[in-house]
Amino acid sequence: MKFDQSGVDALMEITSRPELVFVRGQGSWLEDHHGKRYLDFVQGWAVNSLGHCPPSVVKALNSQAATLINPSPAFYNKPSMDLAKRITGASCFDRVFFANSGAEANEGAIKLARKWGQLKRNGAYKIITFDHSFHGRTLATMSASGKPGWDRIFAPQVEGFPKAELNDLDSVRALVDDQTVAIMLEPIQGEAGVIPATREFMQGLRALADEKGLLLIVDEVQTGYGRSGKMFAYELSGVQPDIMTLGKGIGGGVPLAALCAREEVCVFKHGDQGGTYNGNPLMTAAGVAIFDTLMAPGFLDSVNARAKQLSEGLLALASKWGMQGERGEGLLRALMLDRDDGPALVDTARDMGPEGLLLNAPRASLLRFMPALNVTEQEVDQMLTMLDDVISKVRR
Ligand SMILES: *Cc1c(COP(=O)(O)O)cnc(C)c1O
Repeated sequence: MKFDQSGVDALMEITSRPELVFVRGQGSWLEDHHGKRYLDFVQGWAVNSLGHCPPSVVKALNSQAATLINPSPAFYNKPSMDLAKRITGASCFDRVFFANSGAEANEGAIKLARKWGQLKRNGAYKIITFDHSFHGRTLATMSASGKPGWDRIFAPQVEGFPKAELNDLDSVRALVDDQTVAIMLEPIQGEAGVIPATREFMQGLRALADEKGLLLIVDEVQTGYGRSGKMFAYELSGVQPDIMTLGKGIGGGVPLAALCAREEVCVFKHGDQGGTYNGNPLMTAAGVAIFDTLMAPGFLDSVNARAKQLSEGLLALASKWGMQGERGEGLLRALMLDRDDGPALVDTARDMGPEGLLLNAPRASLLRFMPALNVTEQEVDQMLTMLDDVISKVRR
């Protein structure tokens, strides 16, 4: 297959992309238009929880596509109810609203918290969020995010998202006032460079929220669905949030996300929330297939075994190359470099032959790893060997 420049020119330019067209994928491997294969430790940004084209999802999509694609969100459909029951059964939440993207689920969480504030807290509407956090690319979720510079690019912002420091409870307490309705955070900041909230901090936030009558919202778009080694990352700290959002891995690659809440918080009136594609049976059928694989006996144990292997391998590389170390939970991990050559490592890893390696550097001083949750022991070893090779090429 030829590289199609006119096709490239027809796409809106939003990011720099290598001159590669990916044509197929299977498990942990992607193939480009030259037929070159890549070991994929990005997986569509932690989206393909079971790797590329997992047979269970392909089967669910095929059979659902031939049965019913979208009756409209104004009617019930079985896959959406099946998936909602599974999620509420496996979590501390009572009800689920399905959305199409993480940002949309977070918008829903923000709306739900504001509605609850109108009804129960005299119109309180402010949601405390965190520096360096990432919640999506709609106007409200960009305003909620703490990415440097994001307060100006599409000014004016949506108002009401004061920023605290992760793992600094006093910085949160200092921001609480009469108009505060909620605290929202990622249990592990993903885009910021895989920075976990500590267990003590999560417990402190729960206590503070209870003391002040606030909602605790966890954005588990990246950390949920087995990524952290638990089904949901809030379980790592033993707290029960009031609202949780899911995205990325929940659909195993297809656009699916969810807003989950405890019964007391489910205060939407008819007409407050909705969306044409929300909860459609095609996507939720894929979601059921993913859920059942992740919850099968032994699956999360294997995620934790691969996480340990990856963590130890990254630590060994860090000490060999004089790097800072590694961190993360489950199969969301980062290698902390000793210099800003993350982007060079990513490019060299991708471009080397005969096989390439796909990695991500959310910051120049850091590599992030988010393989398929069913990555094999041999694939993790192969990635570590390839990475060692890449480092020696770049730093030679
Ligand atoms: C990716 C991500 C989002 C946004 O999800 P989209 O599906 O891209 O809208 C929100 N929050 C977190 C923590 C994410 O990692």
